[in-house]
Amino acid sequence: MAEVHDGATLRAALLPIASDFSFTWIGEARALFDDLNPRRFAELHSNPIALLSELTYDDLESALTPEYLERLERVQRRLARERGYETWWTEQERPEDFLVAYFSAEFGLDESLPVYSGGLGILAGDHLKAASELGVPLVGVGLFYRRGYFRQRLDAADRQVERYPRNDANRLPLELVPMAPVVELADESGELVPVRLGVWRARIGRVSLYLLDTKVSGNPAWARDVTDILYGGDRENRLRQELVLGVGGVRVLRRLGLAPTVFHMNEGHSAFLQLERLRELVEEDGVGTSEALEQLRESTVFTTHTPVPAGNEVFDPELVQRNVEGLVERCGLEWDEFAALGKVAPEDELFGLTPFALRTSRYANGVSELHGAVSREMWHGLWPGSPVDEVPITSITNGVHQRTWLSRELEELLGDTDPQFARAREVPAESLWAAHRTAKDRLLEFIVTTRGAQALDPDVLTIGFARRFATYKRASLLFSRPERLAALLADAERPIQILVAGKAHPADEGGKDVIQQVVDFAREPAAAGRVVFLSDYEMTLARRLVQGVDVWLNTPRRPLEASGTSGMKAALNGVLNCSILDGWWAEAYSPAVGFAIVGDAGADASEAEQDEADAEALFAILEGQVLPAYYERGADGVPERWIALMRESIAELGPRFGTARMVRDYVERLYLPAHDGAPRAASRAA
Ligand SMILES: *Cc1c(COP(=O)(O)O)cnc(C)c1O
Repeated sequence: MAEVHDGATLRAALLPIASDFSFTWIGEARALFDDLNPRRFAELHSNPIALLSELTYDDLESALTPEYLERLERVQRRLARERGYETWWTEQERPEDFLVAYFSAEFGLDESLPVYSGGLGILAGDHLKAASELGVPLVGVGLFYRRGYFRQRLDAADRQVERYPRNDANRLPLELVPMAPVVELADESGELVPVRLGVWRARIGRVSLYLLDTKVSGNPAWARDVTDILYGGDRENRLRQELVLGVGGVRVLRRLGLAPTVFHMNEGHSAFLQLERLRELVEEDGVGTSEALEQLRESTVFTTHTPVPAGNEVFDPELVQRNVEGLVERCGLEWDEFAALGKVAPEDELFGLTPFALRTSRYANGVSELHGAVSREMWHGLWPGSPVDEVPITSITNGVHQRTWLSRELEELLGDTDPQFARAREVPAESLWAAHRTAKDRLLEFIVTTRGAQALDPDVLTIGFARRFATYKRASLLFSRPERLAALLADAERPIQILVAGKAHPADEGGKDVIQQVVDFAREPAAAGRVVFLSDYEMTLARRLVQGVDVWLNTPRRPLEASGTSGMKAALNGVLNCSILDGWWAEAYSPAVGFAIVGDAGADASEAEQDEADAEALFAILEGQVLPAYYERGADGVPERWIALMRESIAELGPRFGTARMVRDYVERLYLPAHDGAPRAASRAA
C-alpha cells in the first residue's frame, strides 16, 4: 500500500475502494466517504466516485487526521483479506469450467447506481454480492439505463411527482469496456437495423457485472433511446430492451471470451437470450434444431418472481415477429413453432415471456415455498399431462445479503464470523437493546436531516411500512380504521408512531391516491404528529428503516407476495415482523420470532371481505400482542419479552433468510445439475 500523506495520495488510496461495490457491505468503507462531507455525500446519493471528483486536494488533506488514516488502513487490510481468503466454493472439488451467466433487467447494488426499481433488482444485486463472498464463478448481465429509478417528490396537493435524474457513467464506479457488439432491431418501417451497444463493467468483489446500453454514437436517434429509461417507453421499446439484454448480452459474453455453462434468467425479461444461444448451436455448431433446443434447456435455470400479471409480460406476436423472425429462421424454426413456445395453450394469442422461459428451461423455481406451489398451479397448463404437484417448478426461498443490511451496531455486537447470528441469544439484553436504540436514534435523525420530517420520540413503539405502492401490497389496510388507528397513535401510556415510504408506479393513479390519503391523514390532528410519509424510498432509506424501526409491517393480499425481502432485512436486525402469512413469512413465522396477521375470511371470500377480515386481524394483533410485549418493562427499563423475540428473530431468521444460504441452494440444487447438462462446444471459448 502506497503511503498516504497528502490530498493527492489520499485520493489515490480512496479511488480503488470507490471503484468496487464491495464498499457497499463494509460499513467502515462507506463511512470513509461519508465522513469527508456527509451532506454532499447524501446529496450525491452516496456515490463515492462523484464525491471524489468534486473534492479538491485541500479538502482531502484537511480530512487526513491520524485517526482517519488508521481507519483507511483498516479498510485496506480488510479488503485485501477478503480477496485472499478461501471461499466456500474452493473448499471442495469443483468442475473447472463452471461459470454461471446471471441475467436480470435490474440490479440494485447500491443507491448510487439506480438501475433497479424494487425487490427484484435488489435481490439480483444481493445475489452477486453473495456469489462474490462464496467464490461462485458467476458473471452478471444487465442494462445501463441513463435514467434509472425515478426520484419521488410530492407536489403541493400531496400527489407523487417523478423526476428522472441522468446517470452519468463517468461519475459512477463503472468502466467502459472497449467493444461494440451489435443487435438487430426493427425500426418504425419494420426494417432490421444493426444497433451498436456500449458495455460497462461494474466490479463486485470477485464478480463482474456487465451493463449494456444503446446510447452509442452512430446509432439512429430512436435506437439511442432504447435503454434510456428503466422499463420505459411503449411495448415495442420494452421488447427492444429485452432483445438488447438477452441477445446482446450473449454476444457480449462471447466477445469477452466467456463460455458460461449455466444461464440463469432472473425473471422472463432476459428470455430472448435463449434465441441467440439456439442460433449459435444451430448455425455455428451445426447441431440439429431439436437437439439444440434440448441442450439449451438442460443448461438453463429460470426464476419466476411473481404471480402478478405485470411481472409475466406478454407481447403482440406480430411485434415479436418483426424483430426476431430473422433470428428464428437462422435457428431452423418455423415461425409458428417458435410462437408456440411463448404460449400456454395452442389457441392463445399473445407471446408470453414466462411460458417461453419455462419451455426452454429444465430448471425453474419460485421464490418461496408458497410461491412455488402457486406457480405450479398457475403454469399447470404448460404440462397438461402432469398432476399439479408434479409440475417441474421447485422453490428456492429468497434471501438478503446480510452484510449490506445489518446495522453497524449489531455487527459490532455479534461479530462478523460464524455463528454471528446465534450470538444474539447470548449477548446481554441491555447491549442488544442499546444497539437497537442507537440504530433507531440514527434513523430518526436521518429522516429529519434528509427528508425534513418532524422529530419523533425514540421511546414510542415505531412501526415501519415501506414498499412499492402496488395494489396487492394494500398499504391502505392500516388506514382503513381511522378511529381505531387514531386511538393507538394518541394513547397516553402506550402510543405508536408510523413511518411510511414507497413509490407508486408512474402510471398507477390508484397507488398515487393511496399515498395522497396517507399524507392527508398524517396532517390531521387525529394523527397526533405520529404518522410520517417519507418520500423517495430507496436503498439508503430502506437500510436505515429496517435497522431502526421496532416493527416491520406487511399486509399483502395473499398469495400475491411471492416472497418479499424487506421483512428479512428487518428480521436480521431484530426488528420484529408483523405480517400476513404470505411469501417468505408463511414459512418463517413462529410465535417465537414475530407476529402473524391471520384474517378469518374463508377460502372463497371476495377481495373486499378478505381486506375487511385482515384489517380486523391487524388491529387485534397490534392491540392484543405487539403493544403489550413492547411496553412491558423490567426495573431497568428493558423490555425482556420483546428482547426474547428479537434474539430469536436474529438468531433463527438471520442465517435462514440470507443470500449465502440462497446462493448455496441455487448452486447445489440447480446450477451444478445444469452445468452437467451444458453443451460443450469448443468454439464457444474462443
Ligand atoms: C428490499 C427492498 C425492496 C423489496 O421489498 P419487499 O419487501 O419485497 O417489498 C424494495 N425497495 C427497496 C428500496 C428495498 O430495499
